[in-house]
Amino acid sequence: MTLTETILARAAGKARVQAGDNLWVKADVLMTHDVCGPGTIGVFKREFGQAAKVWDRQRVIIIPDHYIFTADSKSNRNVDILREFVKEQGITYFYDVIDNPDGKWVFDSSKGMLQRQYGSHYAGVCHTALPQKGHTRPGEILFGTDSHTCMAGAFNQFATGIGNTDAGFVLGTGKLLLKVPETMHFRLEGQLQPGVMAKDIILHCIGEIGFDGATYRAMQFDGPGVASLSMDDRMTIANMAIEAGGKNGIFEFDAKTEEYVNHRTRLNGTKSSYEPVMRHQDEKFVYEMTLDLQRLEPTVACHPDPGQRKKARDLGHIKLDRAYIGSCTGGKTSDFLEFARVLRGRRVTIDTFGVPATPETVHDLQTARWGDRTIWQILVEAGVQMTENAGCAACLGGPVDTFGRMNAPLKCISATNRNFPGRMGHKESQVFLASPFTVAASAVAGRITDPREYLS
Ligand code: SF4
Repeated sequence: MTLTETILARAAGKARVQAGDNLWVKADVLMTHDVCGPGTIGVFKREFGQAAKVWDRQRVIIIPDHYIFTADSKSNRNVDILREFVKEQGITYFYDVIDNPDGKWVFDSSKGMLQRQYGSHYAGVCHTALPQKGHTRPGEILFGTDSHTCMAGAFNQFATGIGNTDAGFVLGTGKLLLKVPETMHFRLEGQLQPGVMAKDIILHCIGEIGFDGATYRAMQFDGPGVASLSMDDRMTIANMAIEAGGKNGIFEFDAKTEEYVNHRTRLNGTKSSYEPVMRHQDEKFVYEMTLDLQRLEPTVACHPDPGQRKKARDLGHIKLDRAYIGSCTGGKTSDFLEFARVLRGRRVTIDTFGVPATPETVHDLQTARWGDRTIWQILVEAGVQMTENAGCAACLGGPVDTFGRMNAPLKCISATNRNFPGRMGHKESQVFLASPFTVAASAVAGRITDPREYLS
């Protein structure tokens, strides 16, 4: 069995399963956020009754992160609905925007978009927050009401996005009926060259198979090349499995996984026991690809979908209006560090927005120093508009007052993960997906640029 089949078999209480089997599996964690949480709660109450209790209040994780820093009152109200449900159910893990459990969330736009407006519990973008807060464990099953839930596959777990109806059912029962996906195999060999990042790996893979090339399939990443990838790198890759239509992305368990998970569960006092899954000799794949990381070049997914792969060096003719770094995929501390490596001592020539994924990243960037400057200062001095309000921001457009949203038909190079028409706002805008290195170099040049021109 493949890694995915092994986890699903265990969760279904079976010795063996194969692709195509329909199984009832037990959930280890259900995550929801402010966009889908209220709808999920509505389904749960309708189907299980107004007085129903969730199946396990320690396994439901609620993370508001999407439409948070907006004056849109309906969006603010969504966070209040989550808070009321958490109180009613006694849910343990709720990363509220405000500290007062009896309060209401109202964004104060008179303070501007850059200054932080969250309290001490706020965790930022759900997929980045989950591992940081100690909720991702090898061998487990994570369901989330968000398509990029697959990011947690970096931690050797089965993680997938589900809709509100399924999530309402999981809330009530802790189980879900799933068809076992076929597995596609991506064997990574060698090491990335300077100027090339994990984002380039996944953009290359999606370019190879197309934006629907992994529809309802597991994407398994393994091989000797994985050892050199950090957990952040693996998260970037697993995150974008859904951009090829994948059911999930999954990595092997190794010492890096163990170190990260043990550290984070200890730090946060969350469940620390887990049972990783290992590869079996009898694993069967429906697709095989071997990728020599050494030969990869900075890659861009052009408008209008994540499969439109081109080399950055061939796109110098595309002039840009805007650059954006942020999101679960591209807003981690390590992403901003690589971004800053290019921008240090330079200035951007187009509007450039920086949105850290989590408050922890804001803290990292404001405390880590290169010489006498913090990373945050280096970015601001380079002309990047940095907000402390960590969250999804303009990655998915959002209400019109969202920081960085494209309210006009602009061309933007972005470290985010999705570029279908209208994704970041205006329907006629164009989004080019790239690594933080490539976004930084392009922000300096004002056109799509191979970052190796800027890195010695
Ligand atoms: S940052 Fe973007 S991709 Fe990630 S969860 Fe938020 S909206 Fe989705």
